[in-house]
Amino acid sequence: MFGFDLDGVLYPWHGHVYNWAVENLNLELTHDEFWKWPGGWFYQNRENLIVNNIVGNPLLYNKSAVLPEIHDAVWEIKELVGDVCYITGRPEIVRFDTKLWIERSHLPDPDNVFFTPSQFGAKLEIIQQQGCDFFVDDRLDYIRELLGHTQLFLVDKIWNENFEHETVTRIQDVTDIPAILEEA
Ligand SMILES: [Mg+2]
Repeated sequence: MFGFDLDGVLYPWHGHVYNWAVENLNLELTHDEFWKWPGGWFYQNRENLIVNNIVGNPLLYNKSAVLPEIHDAVWEIKELVGDVCYITGRPEIVRFDTKLWIERSHLPDPDNVFFTPSQFGAKLEIIQQQGCDFFVDDRLDYIRELLGHTQLFLVDKIWNENFEHETVTRIQDVTDIPAILEEA
């Protein structure tokens, strides 16, 4: 089983959030100033209602279908590994929109979508239940939690820069993964 995180891995949620914030909150910040972790606008406001409302806004989770090259990579990975699943820390309130997005994007195994018990909940239990041999994420809290439990890929982002670990494979995006699996 190959497990995928959604936001920042398969779905460009951070780009949609940044655009929404620039338009609606009159922010004059670059994408990196907005998303830098820690220190960026989103991190600084993470306890505030505004960020809560952004995270719970279903419209921001189905703004664009999956990019064609990401779609193709997920199917290639499925061919190489077998089953795939999707494990997200999104809030429960966007479950329906998440399902719609996966179907709209024609991604494999659309029934294998799992939500952590809370937005910052554990992914480890789900990964063990599902028997994920591989997992790809973009967030360091999840990567650190999963170290030693599965083969990890980390998508290169401004919010995880400077993290290095000998067992974690850093990638530009999931299109890098099929070649890495084939070499192994
Ligand atoms: Mg993510």
